[in-house]
Amino acid sequence: MSLRNTIDGAPCAHGAPVAVVNPATGMPFAEVAGAGKADLDRAFSAASISFGQWRHTPWADRTALLRKFADAVAADEEALATLVTLEQGRPLAFARAEVRRNAEAIRQMAQLVVQPAVLKDDDRSHAVLHYRPLGVVAAIAPWNVPVTMAVGKLLHALHAGNTLVLKPSPYTPLATLRLGEIGRGIFPPGVFNVVAGGNELGQWMSEHPAAAKVTFTGSTATGRKVAQSAANDFKRVTLELGGNDAALVLDDVDVDAVAARIFGAAFVNSGQICMAIKRLYVQEGVYDPLVERLATFARNARVGNGLAPQTQLGPVQNEAQFRIVQEFIASARADGADFAAGGHVLDRPGYFVAPTIALGLGEGSRLVDGEPFGPVLPVMRFRTVEEGIARANATPYGLGASVWSDDAQRIERVIAGLQAGTLWVNDHAAPDPMVPFGGIKQSGLGRESGLLGLKHFMEPVSVITPRMPRASWFVP
Ligand code: NAD
Repeated sequence: MSLRNTIDGAPCAHGAPVAVVNPATGMPFAEVAGAGKADLDRAFSAASISFGQWRHTPWADRTALLRKFADAVAADEEALATLVTLEQGRPLAFARAEVRRNAEAIRQMAQLVVQPAVLKDDDRSHAVLHYRPLGVVAAIAPWNVPVTMAVGKLLHALHAGNTLVLKPSPYTPLATLRLGEIGRGIFPPGVFNVVAGGNELGQWMSEHPAAAKVTFTGSTATGRKVAQSAANDFKRVTLELGGNDAALVLDDVDVDAVAARIFGAAFVNSGQICMAIKRLYVQEGVYDPLVERLATFARNARVGNGLAPQTQLGPVQNEAQFRIVQEFIASARADGADFAAGGHVLDRPGYFVAPTIALGLGEGSRLVDGEPFGPVLPVMRFRTVEEGIARANATPYGLGASVWSDDAQRIERVIAGLQAGTLWVNDHAAPDPMVPFGGIKQSGLGRESGLLGLKHFMEPVSVITPRMPRASWFVP
């Protein structure tokens, strides 16, 4: 496989090799040349130079190129999706849907234009708020949804008039490198650079003096380091960090109608989605039937290699994460969990965990308080709505949360009480490119998606013109 970094519109193929492992087999199947410090400097220099022109390229022209990129991504669906399944593990049908969804997200967001806003227009002064691109954006991505991460960061940065240096996770560089290859024939050289490499490359990026902004998606622990590096010269930062989303299921729901959707929102991508349901609180009237449905889905889920057409859930993406998931299961067992399904790994090559439903735990248990980022869900019983809200909020995370009910008044009460950046009603883990997304508390800073997300990649600049002569500050 000859996928290479993209720097200044051209392939760049020297650098220390990074092996890519297929999580369904545990075996390396590809190698890419990681970027070194000199490559990174070249990428930032190319991005800085091209910013001079790109920032003045009219919105309509930038948008036309983004649409062309969306068409090229859509046309490459099969190749991109296959790379995602091989490197990340998710079933091919989901990988194909991920590619399609992202091409569509580009087309939708490309309709947005950030216009100057007149703030004041009276006989004293005229004041306008303009939004200007920031410069070079450094983007650092995790391994769980490579195409979504790469496209999202490219879309915001380039649409707003910035140029980009993008680094995928060392575990999943391939689909992102291919997106760089696709972009070579579309964007002017230097506008969209892709560099593969390890954690040190991410650190250099967040410290790089040519970066005006860092957009980082990954763990809360790494996000803290990125924020510290970026603080040296006050780079703008967007941090999309870890989550521990709670879903509250009230006792008026039709269990049969919601069970499959709740299971899907918790176990999609084998639980490796920041905004997946990670704590399920069920009101006692519907607890037993819902647990029974969820456990049946978990026991019957077809877990396997994502290339096999019948597969519903793939492996955990990498060996380190596989170990972490096993530690979470072991600690749940030590805390006295009763496993309604799973509770063990699958005895086969690759990083497979049986979909696990853990009962009998509460706050204070590691599985409830932490983020396993794998196919393991604690389900807890609650009595009153107030108790459910308080327990859902008892976390330093605040990415998403949801309420499941058919009663409009109860929904309103729960929504008013829940603390998270995105709140869903009878749904969960359903992002929308036109709706701002981001975390509160330790789940992040800033927003992506929608007009607000675009503005987070721009600098507001106020322009004030007096309408009448005013007294000078200087009295001669
Ligand atoms: P991670 O923090 O280990 O790595 C993310 C990226 O940061 C990788 O590209 C890595 O190479 C790079 N990196 C590592 N150390 C760095 C440093 N010191 N400076 C700069 N970059 C560095 O995260 P991960 O394990 O790849 O991803 C899983 C985590 O991502 C989970 O916590 C998940 O919740 C979170 N996530 C959040 C969102 C969101 O939108 N909030 C989306 C997806 C994943």
